[in-house]
Amino acid sequence: MTLPKNMIVAMLMGPEQIEIREVPVVPPSKGELLISVEAATTCGTDVKVFRQGGHARMLHVPTLFGHEVSGRVQAVGKGVQKFLEGDAVVVANSSPCLDCDYCNMHRENLCRDLQYLNGAYAEYLLIPERFVSRSTHKIPNKLNFSRAALTEPLACVLHGIDACNLENYEIGSEIAVYGGGPIGLLFVGALADLGFSVILADPNQSRLDVGKAMGAKKVIQIKRDGGQADVVKSLCQNKEGTWVAIDATGQPAVWEDAVSTVRPGGIVNLFGGCKPQTKVSLDAHLLHYSEITVKGVYHHRPDTVRRALKLLAQSRFPADLLLSAKMPIKHAEKALRMMMAKEALKVVISAES
Ligand SMILES: [Zn+2]
Ligand SMILES: [Zn+2]
Repeated sequence: MTLPKNMIVAMLMGPEQIEIREVPVVPPSKGELLISVEAATTCGTDVKVFRQGGHARMLHVPTLFGHEVSGRVQAVGKGVQKFLEGDAVVVANSSPCLDCDYCNMHRENLCRDLQYLNGAYAEYLLIPERFVSRSTHKIPNKLNFSRAALTEPLACVLHGIDACNLENYEIGSEIAVYGGGPIGLLFVGALADLGFSVILADPNQSRLDVGKAMGAKKVIQIKRDGGQADVVKSLCQNKEGTWVAIDATGQPAVWEDAVSTVRPGGIVNLFGGCKPQTKVSLDAHLLHYSEITVKGVYHHRPDTVRRALKLLAQSRFPADLLLSAKMPIKHAEKALRMMMAKEALKVVISAES
């Protein structure tokens, strides 16, 4: 296949500054793939990156960005055996070394040499060798590109669910989820799929409505800025609270609410990342005497990426509810502004056809 010389990309230039540019298409070297981006979904991390004009660890302007991506292989580098031109693939946004102490413990999300891949808001994306060999997957037949692009956030959520030790609790047990953004809603969908009764708490009624449609048993509209644990607990079957509470907001006051929502022996899953230097105050007496487990949970592992792709291929899984709109690359900025205004859960960005 002959590749075009140039492609359209959304280039992040600084805080809330995007330029649509034409840049050269680079053909793949040994071990690499070039894919055409068929769907790139916007995410809260992209909004953060857009607002700040980059990311301290990952992205320095001017830079390409966007990281939830599916596409079609357009050119195959020398030595690549696993993929052929025309294959539909999804690529995880990080790839572990598989060699360090954390990788050997299957905690690849904490890999000492985790590499990240960004640049999905573009017509083409070059996939580096490490990603080709261990972080690229063929998309199952019946799964469309937009749903497939949700593999990354769902992989994070499945990693988060693994951290909840749900095997200890009866199917049907109540689990509280704080935050009805895309991640909170994926928690709702995946937990409901496993048979758990989810209570979703969020200030935004339209997000609660989506939560219901994703399978939440109960939803409750709460106030912003915390202090809402008693309101949520009043909905629980057991007034002592739930066994598991998940924060999908990254707000310190809500972290505290999540801790106050579980019953003795419960698990608190702090999934939403807070800003650097954030401090939270916890009731030390409660943590000790009620044996509350508090866990920080981050990112995904190769195993959860594979499982996420499988779950998305199941038509019963209501992932489409998260895809609010579809837009061409030249409207990437508009898409991110819609996310900021909470007018969209996720927008699918793709090349104009
Ligand atoms: Zn994401
Ligand atoms: Zn490693």
